[in-house]
Amino acid sequence: MEDLLDDAEECATLLEEHGSPLNVLDFSPLARNASELIDAAQQDGVRLGVYVARKANKALGLVKAASAAGLGLDVASLAELRQCLDLGVAGDAIIVTAAVKSRALIRLAIDAGATVSLDNADELDDVVMESSRGRSRAKVAMRLASSDPSIPPTRFGLTATQWDSALAKVDAKTLRIEGIHFHLNAYSAQDRAVVLREALGWTDRLRVAGHPIAFIDMGGGIPMSYLADEGQWRDFWRSLAADGAGTLTWRGDRLGLTDPEAERPSGTLYPYWQQPVRGAWLREILRAPGINGETIAADLAKRSLELRCEPGRSVLDGCGMTLAQVAFRKSTSDGIPLVGLHMNRTQVRSTSVDFLLDLRWVRPADAGQPSAPFHGFLVGAYCVEEELLMRRRLRFDDGVARGDIAAFINTGGYLMHILESASHQLPLAVNVVRGGGGWVRDEIDMTL
Ligand SMILES: *Cc1c(COP(=O)(O)O)cnc(C)c1O
Repeated sequence: MEDLLDDAEECATLLEEHGSPLNVLDFSPLARNASELIDAAQQDGVRLGVYVARKANKALGLVKAASAAGLGLDVASLAELRQCLDLGVAGDAIIVTAAVKSRALIRLAIDAGATVSLDNADELDDVVMESSRGRSRAKVAMRLASSDPSIPPTRFGLTATQWDSALAKVDAKTLRIEGIHFHLNAYSAQDRAVVLREALGWTDRLRVAGHPIAFIDMGGGIPMSYLADEGQWRDFWRSLAADGAGTLTWRGDRLGLTDPEAERPSGTLYPYWQQPVRGAWLREILRAPGINGETIAADLAKRSLELRCEPGRSVLDGCGMTLAQVAFRKSTSDGIPLVGLHMNRTQVRSTSVDFLLDLRWVRPADAGQPSAPFHGFLVGAYCVEEELLMRRRLRFDDGVARGDIAAFINTGGYLMHILESASHQLPLAVNVVRGGGGWVRDEIDMTL
């Protein structure tokens, strides 16, 4: 990212060629991020399988990079599965976790030898039906909804009790039940330890019933930190809590901060700074108490169970950014300064209420005359008043010129793609991937 930002003319050339905004991707950090997890597990005697969550970035470059690094893939739809198989990914390196599964998706997964994460009893019926029809048995993992009172309720999976009765009603011999799967909201290591203990106990019962359980898959939600400095994070919330006049954000938006004393938001905002992350976080889980007075790591090793995970965001840390060109500078009718970019707000957005990294700015030689320094807000191309690209007021220390390029940093995980839309008939952003000494257009969306 720093290399590209140092080269203003390269940024301008890329935008000229591909349009604004443009997603620039370089998946070389992926293997390093995954190794951090694999190494941490290995140190505690646990074999960790990493299945990269494809929905976090749609570029085919991600599939190629994951595959080249020897990692598996977690797919959430028929198209995601088909693209992986077309790129030569082996079926046994794929888990299908789609929340709703068509017969076509189930059929393809079985034929390819991919693992299907089973969500409910109706889906179980479909998989049993498709499995008994084909030549090979379906490989499945049971998606476990925790029944522990400390874990928030979930729409995903079934409790072990619900599964036991669902399995009793079908011919379970048509399936190979190879694993237990869960995926939790938020980033608590302690919650993962709770559900891993539940899954270990259930593993023993399923094995007694003759099922060849070989792995427990703890899903994604492995934390990362966008900010290196905890002070920046705390200062921001302290300032927002004290901002009675509502000047730091768009028309006084509290960004989910309901309790000023809490100095952090509740609910729907990603923790842009957090500790521990990745390897250190996984170590906490593995060293938490297991079910027989030892650690979770020891319980997994003793049962020869592979631990699997499906990280998205945390392995895409450092893999991409989004560039967009300045279109205009103006003020609202009540005098709030605005900068308009050639992009819309779905092009850097996740389910989090705001993107809390500061931008970096690039000024190519042919940018226009810069304004004086000022504070203001970024707006985009959708025809609604609330079309803010970020809800924080930003400081433009070097002023803003037409043709300046805004760089949204570290957007590779979710921020580029998860909510992007082509509303107003505005085209989706192009994705380019670093390769062969230059930037090459990723083939995603080109074959549709
Ligand atoms: C979204 C999702 C993931 C990835 O989550 P991250 O927070 O990006 O690590 C993994 N597994 C399942 C089932 C998911 O729905």
